[in-house]
Amino acid sequence: SYPIDVDAIREDFPILQRKIGGDVTVPGPSEDDDTPLVYLDNGATSQTPDQVVDAIADYYRTYNSNVHRGIHHLSQEASVAYENAHDRVAEFIGANGREEVVFTKNTTESENLVAYAWGLNELGPEDSVVLTQMEHHASLVTWQQIGKKTGADVRFIRVDEEGRLDMDHARELVDDSTKMVSVVHVSNTLGTVNPVSELADLAHDHGAYIFVDGAQSVPNRPVDVQDIDADFFAFSGHKMCGPTGIGVLYGKEEILEEMEPYLYGGEMIRRVSYDDASWEDLPWKFEAGTPVIAQGIALHAAIDYLDDIGMEKIQRHEEQLVEYAYDELTAFDDVEIYGPPGDDRGGLVAFNLDGVHAHDLSSIVNDYGVAIRAGDHCTQPLHDTLGVAASARASFYLYNTHEEIDVLVDAVDEARQLFG
Ligand code: PMP
Repeated sequence: SYPIDVDAIREDFPILQRKIGGDVTVPGPSEDDDTPLVYLDNGATSQTPDQVVDAIADYYRTYNSNVHRGIHHLSQEASVAYENAHDRVAEFIGANGREEVVFTKNTTESENLVAYAWGLNELGPEDSVVLTQMEHHASLVTWQQIGKKTGADVRFIRVDEEGRLDMDHARELVDDSTKMVSVVHVSNTLGTVNPVSELADLAHDHGAYIFVDGAQSVPNRPVDVQDIDADFFAFSGHKMCGPTGIGVLYGKEEILEEMEPYLYGGEMIRRVSYDDASWEDLPWKFEAGTPVIAQGIALHAAIDYLDDIGMEKIQRHEEQLVEYAYDELTAFDDVEIYGPPGDDRGGLVAFNLDGVHAHDLSSIVNDYGVAIRAGDHCTQPLHDTLGVAASARASFYLYNTHEEIDVLVDAVDEARQLFG
């Protein structure tokens, strides 16, 4: 039995009723579609419930308007809704208020915002930035390139055999030269749940900031940024039942206050002359130009949707699914799963079938209607460390079932027969 009402939840996602298999050059159902969709690519992007689609439609149908500038009625309605969305995010992640919640395009932009606005100004050749070997390219490439521009040393905490961070190595790497520790909360490849509070303490002991990449944690488990004591925290709306085009950067108010803006232009200024300009209050200082209004309002609806169901319950549901998938897949002696055991990971499994390229595997699985991801999942250096070029990844969410995992496992078994 499930901690959540999966049947009722699935009704909110009409796309889960889709059949697939026909022409892919034109989006949407076609007459040849006959295979029920099993959507297990939630780590890449989640599906969107009617409640969120309705919030977007409602905005465009009834109060579409630019925010902040207008005295007119619609602009005020849009402004209130957009500002409230910041408050709702703040409440959801345990931030103090909207000053600490900046809307961006996605997690990647949130990383770049801090790397450019803070890193480029604050880092130099005497400094170091500490990452982990399991960072997503969003943080890895960003800090790597800021390291090249500033001369700061970029270091990587080792991942051990079980896919966990080597905390002894972390204590070696983080030293008084360290100004930033940037770590992924839940690895999108290994499923590892990293000890981010411990890493925050370690960073703070050396006077460094910690940036936590919560792209794979906020959608799937309760998160409190103040419990973690994160200085910065980032996630994306599209992985948590929200739309694409919105991400969040949380930052402690006193740090954001000190930081230079990242983008300049309208909406982020207070007073402008030909010679100079001053900045708007937080968070607007970091939201230059017309912001992500519809997306922000829709993110509010997505958070309401998840919170009504309950983040603890969603987490427990995913834990059941991932443990089941892990056990079923490891029963095949030619399947290798990366990362910690099934009872101690986030809701995803990346794996390889011996002798079969992940792309071929994913293509066979697709014939069964199952959507999984194949590739390096934006962790190429980690795949190098694992000694493989690619892996297949199944990632679960609140609407997935054991029966869907059975379809995946049957499809993997079929691939074993075909190639075995
Ligand atoms: N970090 C992690 C751990 C992720 O899984 C992802 C999404 N694959 C990102 C960052 C980047 O998210 P986005 O593409 O929405 O910027």
